[in-house]
Amino acid sequence: MELPPLTIPPLAEVKSRFQLFDYIDGERIRPSVEMGGWVRNPNTGEAITPQLATSPENVARALATAQRVHEAGDWARLPAGERADRLDAAADALMPLTPLIAAVESYHTGMVISLTNFVNAIVWLAFKGAAGVLRSGHAQSVAPGPLGEVEIWRKPLGTAVAIVPWNSPAALAAHKVANALAAGAPVILKPSEWAPYSCLFLAEGLEQVGLPRGLFQIVNGGTAVGQQLVTDRRVRAVSFTGGLQGGRAVAAACAHDFKAMQLELGGNNAMIVLEDADIGKTAEGIVAGLTTLNGQWCRALGRLLVHESIAGEVLEAALARLQHVRLGDSLSPESSMGPLANEEHRRRIGTAVSHLEACGGQKHAPTPLPDLPGHFFPPTLITGVAPEETLEEIFGPAATLHTFRDEAEAVRLANQTPYGLGGYVFSRDEARALAVARQMNTGGVKINGVSLLELNVDAPRPAWGLSGFGEEGTLETFNVFCGRSVVGVAGR
Ligand code: NAD
Repeated sequence: MELPPLTIPPLAEVKSRFQLFDYIDGERIRPSVEMGGWVRNPNTGEAITPQLATSPENVARALATAQRVHEAGDWARLPAGERADRLDAAADALMPLTPLIAAVESYHTGMVISLTNFVNAIVWLAFKGAAGVLRSGHAQSVAPGPLGEVEIWRKPLGTAVAIVPWNSPAALAAHKVANALAAGAPVILKPSEWAPYSCLFLAEGLEQVGLPRGLFQIVNGGTAVGQQLVTDRRVRAVSFTGGLQGGRAVAAACAHDFKAMQLELGGNNAMIVLEDADIGKTAEGIVAGLTTLNGQWCRALGRLLVHESIAGEVLEAALARLQHVRLGDSLSPESSMGPLANEEHRRRIGTAVSHLEACGGQKHAPTPLPDLPGHFFPPTLITGVAPEETLEEIFGPAATLHTFRDEAEAVRLANQTPYGLGGYVFSRDEARALAVARQMNTGGVKINGVSLLELNVDAPRPAWGLSGFGEEGTLETFNVFCGRSVVGVAGR
């Protein structure tokens, strides 16, 4: 995909977008519950706005509205082509907002503008993709039967709920919302209490295309609001991206009345470096794996597994490159890495690294820190810790390095964690790397690269083990919101 040119809107325009609203039954309402914390500029620590949550009464109103929209069925009954036209129109309305969405997101999540500008193209592309699913005929097909053809419909299960975290929130939200709408379902979005602002642009884009009132809604807040949504019996499908604890709570709520669900959780992703790997390319991959999304990336590098014969050389090359990482203000186009999302999270990462040091680890973090008071944490490699001590996700720019003697040991170490989201193999011998990759029990493995672009944008993005439940992807996410219904004539 061609990168859009980097244009940064004036700061005053960016700051003017920090007005939180719920979007309920077509109305913008200021959330009324003070959560006690602040959304801050992670570059400076300055408070931007208080964290606010939707009142339980207004969450209940959003749920009742969604149920009304579902029961009315006007949107679900529209022919697939017409729904696709509206989603295309939404994409067109959202596309010009991309630079502003990107800047707002950088300003309060700390993700660097060069990345948010690129990643947030997904916001409008998600609507194009969902329109494409409808146009492909995926929602309705026929199959032969002994008594004639049977129809197979994919119909909305009912109200859908989309819950997103604070890393890359707008793109994650758009993917869920676009597919729920394509499926014909009313959808309630709950952004993260740490990063709600870039998600609000979805209301602006969708308002322009004339959807039924209340079809798309937003409520705000944290766990309590999330729980009110996912425990409501009228909600029939939940798409959740977040951490393991939240995922478990959502799964428990969905189990009660068998809601459809999609859980995209964390990872502790292994990178296997075979002894014939290109050292320079590997070092670049390590740096990208540690610094992309400031290391707060579900497919970030977690465990670096290097053949013992080249471990010193790989570490040296990676540390040399880490010295040149431009850790700085997330709104500067010069920065290649920004601060962590919030102070609490920085403390959490610091504690995780200190724990590894207490387990005998040695910390390597040569990246210079900027002269800014924000929540900065340098990309860090830790050597000398037993693999058994490094099974959990850190969700920050810190990875451990372990050595292996042969491929079998490398694969064993890669498959040792309870997670299975991403994986990487570096080797000059592609066939050999592919053979190793095929043995890794994880949703996807890339050879000689860690790019954010998927190998194939339409391929599923599965999650194994504690990394989630179900798969994400163009068709896969659409399917979460649908039940299939087979209709045929018994005899003629
Ligand atoms: P989190 O689980 O704390 O919060 C995520 C969202 O869920 C927020 O909106 C939060 O308010 C809500 N939430 C939390 N607990 C809930 C509950 N019990 N019921 C309902 N809603 C609840 O996660 P986070 O700290 O915001 O994000 C970091 C995590 O997200 C990491 O573990 C990361 O790996 C994961 N993540 C996964 C993917 C993926 O595609 N697999 C992508 C991005 C992030």
